[in-house]
Amino acid sequence: MINIVLFGKPGAGKGTQAEFLKSKYQLFHISTGDLFRHHISNKTDLGMLAQSYMDKGDLVPDQVTIDMLKDAVETHSEAKGFIFDGFPRTSKQADALDTFLSEKSMQISATVALEADDDVLAERLVNRGKISGRVDDQDEEKIRNRFEEYNNKTAPLRDFYEAQGKFHSVDGIGGIDEITHRLTTLIDGLL
Ligand code: AMP
Repeated sequence: MINIVLFGKPGAGKGTQAEFLKSKYQLFHISTGDLFRHHISNKTDLGMLAQSYMDKGDLVPDQVTIDMLKDAVETHSEAKGFIFDGFPRTSKQADALDTFLSEKSMQISATVALEADDDVLAERLVNRGKISGRVDDQDEEKIRNRFEEYNNKTAPLRDFYEAQGKFHSVDGIGGIDEITHRLTTLIDGLL
């Protein structure tokens, strides 16, 4: 079973690359951002709660995020493996994921961070916001806040996974195919 975590700041291309990786390695793709947006469009209680954080570019509280993630994994227990896109984003989430997976005799195979410069990402997000209509992509201040959240809460996970020998990074600047090639070369080398 292969379980991959994709890291990267907003706009780094995690969702786009996850789509390629899921078909190449037959993985089930779980994006916590997509799950929250699904709850928002269905106007669930969780959606209402999540929206109040997402609209500001803040992270949604850990416990609700962890519970939602566990539920998604359990609902797809037949999967050959998972690609986690946008989770974990905090140390508490990373600890919870390790504990949860080990209870199921599963583990993270590798984590990969897509690296890109903030200014390039901010420009990509503003352009994406014009097409997607996502509130959190449309305001430069919210975008910068999401980068801050990443720097403060998610970037420290590098040490957590490096200590387990599971952290890798890939240059996230370039053509989509080029970046997919970098990722698959890396992952193939790990299998
Ligand atoms: P994304 O689509 O991954 O950029 O996520 C959009 C927003 O959803 C983030 O800015 C957060 O508000 C929220 N979100 C997604 N994943 C998480 C997570 N693992 N922990 C907390 N908040 C999250």
